[in-house]
Amino acid sequence: MEISPSPTILMEVYIDRIFCNGCGKCVDLCSMGVFKIVNKKAEAARAQVCIGCFKCRDFCPTHAIAPRWVMRVS
Ligand code: SF4
Ligand code: SF4
Repeated sequence: MEISPSPTILMEVYIDRIFCNGCGKCVDLCSMGVFKIVNKKAEAARAQVCIGCFKCRDFCPTHAIAPRWVMRVS
């Protein structure tokens, strides 16, 4: 019997470290606690819990964050 690949839809949260100024606004506004500041730059340390509200994308003052839905097939 052939086993079909199963698609999974999840969020990826890309941060452009050149544009990030380390202000920490994303840490405060993300209700899921995705971000932390490391060496004065934001990291999406817990991207796996992102719910795709896009607040970080809309309110980052330097437009450094690009969250997006992706589909993985395993
Ligand atoms: S809100 Fe934007 S500029 Fe500020 S720390 Fe987060 S990613 Fe960097
Ligand atoms: S899209 Fe929403 S839940 Fe996901 S990292 Fe941004 S603020 Fe947090």
